[in-house]
Amino acid sequence: MKVEHTHQEFSIDHLEMKPRSRLFQPTLIGAGTKDVEGLISYIVRIAAAHSVSPTRLLRKIYAVENPEIKEFLYPSFFNQYSSTVNGLGKYAELFVAHTESLTGAQSLALSTLLPLSDLLPSTGCGLLSDRPKWCPECIQEMPNIHKNSYRPLIWSLKLYRACTKHKQPLIDTCPHCDRVQPFIPRYPDLSRCAYCYQGLNVRVGENVEFSEFDYWVFAAAEDLIEHLDKLGQLASSDNFIMFLKKAIRHYSEGNRSKFCKSIGLNSWAMTGWLTKNEKPSLPQFLTICYGIDTLPSEMFLVPWNKVFIHQALRRIPEKIVDRAERPLLTSSQKAELYNLIKAVAADVNDHRPLVDIAKQLNHSSSCLKYWFPVECIRISEKYAAHKKETGIQNTQAAINKVSMIVDKLRERGEYVSNRKVNNHLLKEGKSLAKPALYKAFKSKLKM
Ligand SMILES: [Zn+2]
Ligand SMILES: [Zn+2]
Repeated sequence: MKVEHTHQEFSIDHLEMKPRSRLFQPTLIGAGTKDVEGLISYIVRIAAAHSVSPTRLLRKIYAVENPEIKEFLYPSFFNQYSSTVNGLGKYAELFVAHTESLTGAQSLALSTLLPLSDLLPSTGCGLLSDRPKWCPECIQEMPNIHKNSYRPLIWSLKLYRACTKHKQPLIDTCPHCDRVQPFIPRYPDLSRCAYCYQGLNVRVGENVEFSEFDYWVFAAAEDLIEHLDKLGQLASSDNFIMFLKKAIRHYSEGNRSKFCKSIGLNSWAMTGWLTKNEKPSLPQFLTICYGIDTLPSEMFLVPWNKVFIHQALRRIPEKIVDRAERPLLTSSQKAELYNLIKAVAADVNDHRPLVDIAKQLNHSSSCLKYWFPVECIRISEKYAAHKKETGIQNTQAAINKVSMIVDKLRERGEYVSNRKVNNHLLKEGKSLAKPALYKAFKSKLKM
């Protein structure tokens, strides 16, 4: 008897094997949210996974495999320029490409500002902070929420000065040894100081006050970061210019300088964007968003008729760049400064200009104007009145001088010429070229 051998076909599900990568691929924390991790932080976490120092990882792996990276890994890169790895220029591009190829990760551009590179200039002012900042409360909570300490991309923005979750300022020096932290630390641990190795999860000092406008700027920055993915395709120079032209037509009947004036923007800047292919800096871009009362992403993601819903433009209360650079004041510093400036404003014998007073108090005049507008107006008025007064007094003294010179020449029996009188005046830094003096001279001659 013939035995039939049958065998069932069976199939094995193909196991999807990721291609082997040179380095461990951590999951990008907070992808697609305002808290998305920055690329520098991502690289530090790769180093942590391999238990090597981040600087060593860059020197021994990144630099060896990529001659272009090797070229600029000198000390100033680690101390200073490495901040731009999170930005939108050459370093960001190189590190995104190379980290992706070493780890097999994708879309790492979303851990940098590269999606905005067609909108903002790569060397723009007011974009990246020149030192790392962090929120101690966030650092404290991170291990519980994300199982890791990391630095969100948004902390690299110069304009982003407070944690909106904890309503506290971001800090930039170690609370224990007071040192500024490097962007790329020697130890792969972002929750500790790179020098004294104590925790950065501690806050020292008092509360700092932020204004409503500050919070608008923070919200606008969060909106940009949260929408990086979509903005990467839509936030182009061309779309920005199109939007701008529409807005100028809608709000100012096509009058550019009227539009700029209404929102507090220099009109020459706009001329550069419209005619010279220049790009707006982030502060300028946000000035327009604030003026129209829209969030940055809405400019590109929402139909125009839904963005232009307000009748009037609003003016920024103060230049955004100045705000980013102003030192933060604690409540007690502010009270102390207020007492000083109040006394100066009330002193009728103090006629100094605001700039001099600001210099003496170690603050910029824009800082004083922001916190103490009433006192600053009083100081400026006093200075202007004093200048006018001394101007009048000086002119009167000079007129008397002309009269004396003419008298003296006449006494000596000399001919009283313009030139002679003028020569005498020049010795005292005065001249008949000043109309008031010339007039006085002519009328003296008639006497
Ligand atoms: Zn926080
Ligand atoms: Zn320290």
